[in-house]
Amino acid sequence: MRVSVDRDRCCSSGMCVTNVPEVFDQDDDDSLVRLRQNAFRPDQFEDLRLAAQLCPGGAITVVEDGPAEAGAASVDG
Ligand code: SF4
Repeated sequence: MRVSVDRDRCCSSGMCVTNVPEVFDQDDDDSLVRLRQNAFRPDQFEDLRLAAQLCPGGAITVVEDGPAEAGAASVDG
């Protein structure tokens, strides 16, 4: 699984931080999303899918690579 966040689309709602605090954080200066991890465990995948679905800005993208791969992250914007 790969996860990317687009800070240009983030509206600083903080929903991702509330739901998956070990992965998402908000920047102290502009409150935009930041990733705390650049690799993800399979047991986090379902929470990451939910975070992408619930993000009001559509700023979180999850790409499924395959059933047993390690996760990776990227940040845009
Ligand atoms: S849920 Fe979406 S809009 Fe809200 S802080 Fe996270 S990335 Fe930004």
